[in-house]
Amino acid sequence: MTPPPPFSDVYSPPPPVPLTRPPSTLPTVRGRKDSPLPPPVPPIPPPPEQQYYAAPQLCYATNIQGVTGSVIYAVADGTNVFKERPVPEVTRQRIRSLETLGEGKFGMVQLCEIEDPKGSQMVAMKSIRAGASETTKKDFRQEARILSRLDDPNIVQLVGMVTRSEPLCMLLEYMSCGDLYQFLRKHQGDGTIVPANFTDPEEDADLPVLSYGALIYIASQVASGMKHLEALNVVHRDLATRNCLVGSELTIKISDFGMSRSLYSSDYYRLSEGRALLPIRWMAWESILQGRFSTKSDVWAFGVTLWEILTMARQQPYDELSDDGVLENVSHCYHGDGSGMMVLPHPPLCPREMYDMMTACWRPNDRQRPPFWEIHLFLQRKNLGYTLYYIE
Ligand code: AMP
Repeated sequence: MTPPPPFSDVYSPPPPVPLTRPPSTLPTVRGRKDSPLPPPVPPIPPPPEQQYYAAPQLCYATNIQGVTGSVIYAVADGTNVFKERPVPEVTRQRIRSLETLGEGKFGMVQLCEIEDPKGSQMVAMKSIRAGASETTKKDFRQEARILSRLDDPNIVQLVGMVTRSEPLCMLLEYMSCGDLYQFLRKHQGDGTIVPANFTDPEEDADLPVLSYGALIYIASQVASGMKHLEALNVVHRDLATRNCLVGSELTIKISDFGMSRSLYSSDYYRLSEGRALLPIRWMAWESILQGRFSTKSDVWAFGVTLWEILTMARQQPYDELSDDGVLENVSHCYHGDGSGMMVLPHPPLCPREMYDMMTACWRPNDRQRPPFWEIHLFLQRKNLGYTLYYIE
């Protein structure tokens, strides 16, 4: 056993340039574009168009194996071989469909019950839509293969598959509270982290409360799931609150949501005609501009996810910037040392050390970003003494 390197509670990132704006002007509706303009940004021409990569191209550009379709899990290299877990084949006769949960990029997702003499089990069944192309089917199987290799309390579990009859289905453990983005928006802060004037007092008055401790508990579970991916050298590439699921007792599991869902379409940006939609507001500069995805670009996305959690998903990241503005902003890292790049603002009342950790995730040099094991340790320490108090 090698002891972990010394851990520092305090991060000292390079001085960030926050997107300054008084908290009272923060919009409460995702995607609103009527907020005041940010301070002027020095005009830097974006890199030439051919520097942008669409997700499928990235597989080739960075020799990533295991990419499933547009953005799911990707194995960064072949050096860390991990075991496939046997996933049971479930016959369609044993599956009873109860209700529709939503629609994802492959097709419908339904809440189902798997009948078993030993007791039935609730699952979320993802089916591939009728007439799906061979490529989509391949992507779907590939996602299942990657999921079958992941076994962690903070990653959604694949519990079964239907492959012997059409349509192909993945059976995932059911997470009863839906995705984390919606979950956060259906709660209000306890006043210690999110001030009263940050959210709409009239709209939010009846919403259940999430304490600061609960928010850190949520964030530390996301970090824990990502720590598992980091240890296996698996790159998620689309970490965001919309891609995390919430179960009972504030359990959080990382999943894959959103790429083609209209609900979140404003979170994705089409770089040019015919290319994949990319979640640029969560993406590290090197992923957007050089097509480099790594655990360290996941760390960048984690910083944005933590910011979403601590602002209770009341605002889209860089809300005041257009998509082109976001590209221009990250260009500071491409053309220079990133010192002119603006970072997301300090969430109201967020402790300084927590904000410092967040900004450390956005360090231009990816090697200077903290590893997930360290982020997890930091959040765990901040959460010491927290006892779950959440009434469902
Ligand atoms: P996806 O195909 O992953 O984008 O999922 C589409 C929708 O299905 C989402 O909006 C979720 O609400 C729902 N969903 C997917 N997986 C699960 C799950 N394991 N538990 C509960 N709901 C899920």
